[in-house]
Amino acid sequence: ERVPLVAGNWKMNFDHLEATYFVQKFAWQLRDAHFDFRRVEVALFPSFTSLRSVEVLVEADKLKIRYGAQSVSVTDQGAFTGDISADMIAHLGCSYVIIGHSERRKYHPEDDANIVDQVRAVLAAGMQPILCVGESFEERRQGIELDFAVGQVHDVTRDLNEAEAAKLIIAYEPVWAIGTGMVATPESAQYAAQAIRDDLRATFGDKVADTVRILYGGSVSSKNAVELIGEPDVDGFLIGGAALDVDELTRICRLT
Ligand code: 13P
Repeated sequence: ERVPLVAGNWKMNFDHLEATYFVQKFAWQLRDAHFDFRRVEVALFPSFTSLRSVEVLVEADKLKIRYGAQSVSVTDQGAFTGDISADMIAHLGCSYVIIGHSERRKYHPEDDANIVDQVRAVLAAGMQPILCVGESFEERRQGIELDFAVGQVHDVTRDLNEAEAAKLIIAYEPVWAIGTGMVATPESAQYAAQAIRDDLRATFGDKVADTVRILYGGSVSSKNAVELIGEPDVDGFLIGGAALDVDELTRICRLT
């Protein structure tokens, strides 16, 4: 059985002091609610500048909250000013790295080849990639959203072997739903997650298809989380705006 994952992507929000304050309050609220981390996994994605602070806090208080980075360099070291390697991230205790978020694809030169290399770098460093895919409004209007999202997954998985594919987490995030308040219906989130899982099954077989968690992202809140998680192929959430509000994020964790 797949353990659901609630992942809070902070994007470019919170400095390390704000991050520290948030994690302390969040941990305290989850503890107060007797939250069972074996039932639902919880992960936060702070800025690079906050990762060390989060690590220190998680270690000191033996927190069960996991964390990761929002992107990674495809190279392991050298003359790449401003880049951060997968090993640097892994050495901060990160479990995951978000890869190919639509905002990265839009504002940075992250194409399929680069995204495959990021996935490889993250796997080689012993972490799990959270690969983001999802159609824009234009593909949805044309009715090709499933092919588009599955195609984005396939562009990455065709270069992976079975053991590598089994470590993937996929986040289906329709671009039109990100930060807009226009959440996908549970049915359409399910259609997409199912289509992605079917594709994994066709490429790698049952074991990979039944292992890989497929998250939904795009305007998730405590108002829609219950319906979405009720869908059989939706294994959790990648949350932006609602993950900046500690009370709201706590509510979503409890509802998942
Ligand atoms: P919102 O939850 O703000 O729509 O953002 C979703 C997202 O992009 C998470 O990665």
